[in-house]
Amino acid sequence: MRISFDLDDTLICYQSYVPREWNRIPWVLRRWLPEPFRLGSVELIRALRERSWEVWVYTTSGRSPFLVSCWLWFYGIRVAGVINDAVYQEYLQRHRIHDYPSKNARWFGMDLHVDDSHGVWQEGQQYGFNVHVVSLTDTHWCQGVLAAADQMMAAANADS
Ligand SMILES: [Mg+2]
Repeated sequence: MRISFDLDDTLICYQSYVPREWNRIPWVLRRWLPEPFRLGSVELIRALRERSWEVWVYTTSGRSPFLVSCWLWFYGIRVAGVINDAVYQEYLQRHRIHDYPSKNARWFGMDLHVDDSHGVWQEGQQYGFNVHVVSLTDTHWCQGVLAAADQMMAAANADS
């Protein structure tokens, strides 16, 4: 099973009221890897990996997949891949798609996508992919994601 995470306002939250993971980026690299990692992300992704989920990043931003992977690596997280704007644009061109949503997790084989945007949730309804929406103020957001993932897995097992 594959799960993808949005970055802005999902895993990367600059708002002062959103708690952050302890910064594990070495001082000398913080200039290139400055982003705050939302508290709970490390535990959550570890729990998903233990449940055999393949973890991806799916962002509409132009962040470099290499830098995102490096940034996560310092937190002990290895992702299967990073889909950024360039990767998405390339996909659209390759498949000659002219009418497209801001994200389509199904095209990249995701069973579940986690995002702060209700617009992406609506796109999921329209284009047939599963979106779990998390809010910035939800301090139990990790439990919510795990519950959604467990539910997806149970449904998939029931089908097979
Ligand atoms: Mg976002």
